[in-house]
Amino acid sequence: LPELPEVETVVRALRPVLGERRIQRLELLHPRVARHSDPAQLEEAAHGAAIGGLRRRGKYILLELEGGRPPIAVHLRMSGQLLLSSGPLASPHVRAVFHLARPEGRLNFVDVRTFGTLFLLDGSEPEGFRRLGVEPLSSDFTVERFAGLLASSSTEVKSFLLRQEKVAGIGNIYACEACHEAKVHPRLPARLLGRTRVQRLHAALQAVLGRAVEQMGTTLSDFRRPDGEPGNYGNQLLVYGREGEPCPRCRARIQRIVQHGRSTFFCPRCQHPPRRR
Ligand SMILES: [Zn+2]
Repeated sequence: LPELPEVETVVRALRPVLGERRIQRLELLHPRVARHSDPAQLEEAAHGAAIGGLRRRGKYILLELEGGRPPIAVHLRMSGQLLLSSGPLASPHVRAVFHLARPEGRLNFVDVRTFGTLFLLDGSEPEGFRRLGVEPLSSDFTVERFAGLLASSSTEVKSFLLRQEKVAGIGNIYACEACHEAKVHPRLPARLLGRTRVQRLHAALQAVLGRAVEQMGTTLSDFRRPDGEPGNYGNQLLVYGREGEPCPRCRARIQRIVQHGRSTFFCPRCQHPPRRR
C-alpha cells in the first residue's frame, strides 16, 4: 500500500485543488525524502513554479510545473501521505511542505516510515521509475500485450503481477484480489497460464482496479485521501487479509501462503492449483 487505486485517488482529489496554483517554495524537512535528487535542485525547481497539472504513472504522482521546469515525482511507498492544510500540521512526521499561493495553503508530505521520496524527472530519476511497464487501465494494456509479457516469464503469476516493469501500479492487495476474481492459482507459472486464464486475469485486473478507483482505494492502516478520509474499498476485499474465512464464491476456507516474502491470500477450491506435469 498504496497501490494504483490509492495513488489515482490522491491525484483525482488534488487535481482540482492544485491546478493553476503556484508553489511559493518547497521546504524539505528530512534528508531521506530527497535521496533520489539533489535537494537544492529540487527546491529550486519548485520555487515560484506554477503547477501545470497532476497525473499518475504506476504508483507515482507527477506534479507538472510550467515554464519548462522538470516535473516532480512523489512516491508514497509504504506510509506516505499528501495532506492539504491551511496552516502547519501538528504531525511530527511531516517530511516536506509545498507552500502554496493563490490561495495560500500547504501540501504536506507526511511519512511515518520515511520510505517515501520526492524527485525530479530531469533525467536523473531512479531506475525503478524509468523502467515502469504498461498502465493496466490504459488502452495500451491489451490482452495480446499482457499475454506476451506473461509468456516470457516463468515467475509465479501472483509475483509476476507485482513486477512494476511488467505492469505498473499493482501491489499485493490487488494482485491477490485479481487472481481470485479470475480463478487463477497464484503459484501458476506466468508462461503456463493459457489463453482462457490470460483473458480472465486481464479482465479481472481492469475490473478490480477500476472498482477500487471508484471506491477511492483501500485503507488498511496508513492510506488517507488528501482530505484525511480513508478509502472505501476495504470492505469489498474478498480474499486479502481473510485467512480462514469462507470464500464468498464457494465457501471453502481462504488460505494464506508466502511468495517472495509477501503474503498471498487465495481460495484453494475455486483457484485451481497448477496441473502436475
Ligand atoms: Zn472459492
